[in-house]
Amino acid sequence: MKQEVLAEQLVDWRRDFHQYPETGFLEIRTASKVAGVLEKLGYELSLGKEVMSEADCMGKPEEQETKQHVKWALENGADKKYVEYFAEGYTGIVATLETAQPGPTIAYRFDMDALPIHESEEADHVPNQLEFRSGVANTMHACGHDSHTAIGLGLATQIAENQDKLRGTIKLIFQPAEEGTRGAKSMAEAGVVDQVDYFIASHIGTGVPHRHFVAANNGFLATSKLNITFQGVASHAGAEPQEGKNALLAAASAALNMHAIARHSNGSSRVNVGELHAGTGRNIIPDQAVLIAETRGETSEINQYVKEQVQSIVDGAAKMYQLDYQLEVAGEALNCDCSLDLAEILKQCATSHPEMDQALLESNDSAGSEDATYFMERVQRNGGLATYCIFGTELAAGHHNEKFDIHEDTLLPAVEILYQAVEKLGAKER
Ligand SMILES: [Zn+2]
Ligand SMILES: [Zn+2]
Repeated sequence: MKQEVLAEQLVDWRRDFHQYPETGFLEIRTASKVAGVLEKLGYELSLGKEVMSEADCMGKPEEQETKQHVKWALENGADKKYVEYFAEGYTGIVATLETAQPGPTIAYRFDMDALPIHESEEADHVPNQLEFRSGVANTMHACGHDSHTAIGLGLATQIAENQDKLRGTIKLIFQPAEEGTRGAKSMAEAGVVDQVDYFIASHIGTGVPHRHFVAANNGFLATSKLNITFQGVASHAGAEPQEGKNALLAAASAALNMHAIARHSNGSSRVNVGELHAGTGRNIIPDQAVLIAETRGETSEINQYVKEQVQSIVDGAAKMYQLDYQLEVAGEALNCDCSLDLAEILKQCATSHPEMDQALLESNDSAGSEDATYFMERVQRNGGLATYCIFGTELAAGHHNEKFDIHEDTLLPAVEILYQAVEKLGAKER
């Protein structure tokens, strides 16, 4: 495929995924299409539960929602041949290509999920002008994972077509549920990167300017997403208040105390109670309360410290009001420690690319979180190298905003830089 044709194909893929967005663990249409393309290119596929540890999937939707979504996927162009592999919401894919020459194992991670946001209906929003706006209410690719999936397929195409020139084994990982940091752990725990020498994850945008590249994005915070439910006893607020066990007060007390956790001297941390739902009526002692919260830390240890403090506070609040509670971990990610030796090679690939104005080795700017860190940590623990790179682009609005949009000219250079890295890394001794 000529590069101009590939560029058009990338745009087509990206717009198709954009029009049919699917949130975490429901990427059934998306994954089935990805699997179809990869199999045609000659990759060996491992799908669904083969590449995901069921016990380590966090924040997975209810069975009923998944079932309904399978129907939607089939009605909206899913590739029927593969839907059965993903039908229970285990939507991960690992595509492997062994070149004829011995060499290292190189892995790339691409995430596929969308967000629960209603895409802008305003006329100046480019996806409206060009008619590829999300066709699903309250669901939108507002983080660029549609373009990541397209870049992954473009890279797969370029690798397959040039495999005679390449060495080693290439693994392309298509991950579900990055949003809320829910999907990567289950794939890492299933061992999909255990033989990997070089691991590269990437993201588009994140504030990096168009035609700029960052080879090692180091600022990600470790995080835990916590769903806390207090279960009390309802009673008449006038006649028998003493018979009630007040879940609302326990939740309110926990929320205030969580925001008063002492800082850690080793680095920055965060805690946020984002939602509190409690009670059913003015004259009823509230028997139910739900807190949706998250913690973050500059290192995994600092995040663990904050998380343990939260656990003690929740436990204490429940005791204070004589309630039961449940604490569910609905997502988790580690901090990120990019291997600069690997990043240096990526930086060289970007520097030599004619459409790149600037390639930076390292940035520590990010204050978000990313669960690709599970893959990175595992690869590094086994003696491999891992990095997280950023392809700068022009954004119409920030990530997770209803007017988010990327510059599609970023897609082809991203594929070409990642492909260059396959050539360069294959030639290296491990
Ligand atoms: Zn995001
Ligand atoms: Zn993202």
